[in-house]
Amino acid sequence: MNGITIALSKGRIFEETLPLLAAAGIVPAENPETSRKLIIGTNRPDVRVVIVRATDAPTYVQHGAADLGVVGKDVLIEHGGAGLYQPLDLKIAKCRMSVAVPAGFDYEHAVRQGARLKIATKYTKIAREHFAAKGVHVDLIKLYGSMELAPLAGLSDAIVDLVSTGGTLKANNLVEVEHIMDISSRLIVNQASLKLKRETLGPILDAFTQAVEKNA
Ligand code: ATP
Ligand code: MG
Repeated sequence: MNGITIALSKGRIFEETLPLLAAAGIVPAENPETSRKLIIGTNRPDVRVVIVRATDAPTYVQHGAADLGVVGKDVLIEHGGAGLYQPLDLKIAKCRMSVAVPAGFDYEHAVRQGARLKIATKYTKIAREHFAAKGVHVDLIKLYGSMELAPLAGLSDAIVDLVSTGGTLKANNLVEVEHIMDISSRLIVNQASLKLKRETLGPILDAFTQAVEKNA
């Protein structure tokens, strides 16, 4: 196939990528929130969008089932990035990766005491590297969602999760005790596509780059 396939996840990534696509002259024909279609055409006959789970976007691009994708730095780190060219921080879907604990749990004290902490998270690689760098011993418990519940239900001492406003933490009586890293979404490109489809991809990448600079 000579056309371009772009992997996007529903929700904030799709919404926040729309203006960047528009800058490249690409307008999806449907909204994935209301359409059940997983393959969405655009105003350009040679460009289509595939709707994937956020964590699956790197897999589609890595294997060349999509030429381009947009993915959170969180997901990219967990995936490892093998086979992916990462030309651009799109500076969209911004949030941060943090450690949070139940209000009243003295995290700093526990760390100073060298306590072994139980950490529930979807982001085991990021969490493992963070605590290893601090020299803190942890037992990681892999979850797939609703991380906030884990300390409340007695599954873990703390969580590692994404935070933007802090509203969800607050609603569950959790406090952010450590900022691990800032997160935003990145453009990922299949390495073979970059060579074989340079003529079509080049102008799209240029338009994205200019749009991101304009937003800065
Ligand atoms: P699902 O919600 O279907 O389980 P997900 O949580 O991976 O999947 P989203 O919630 O749409 O998917 O998040 C997609 C990406 O958006 C994340 O990988 C992250 O980079 C970013 N993100 C997540 N939560 C926030 C947030 N609260 N504010 C800003 N960006 C966020
Ligand atoms: Mg989510």
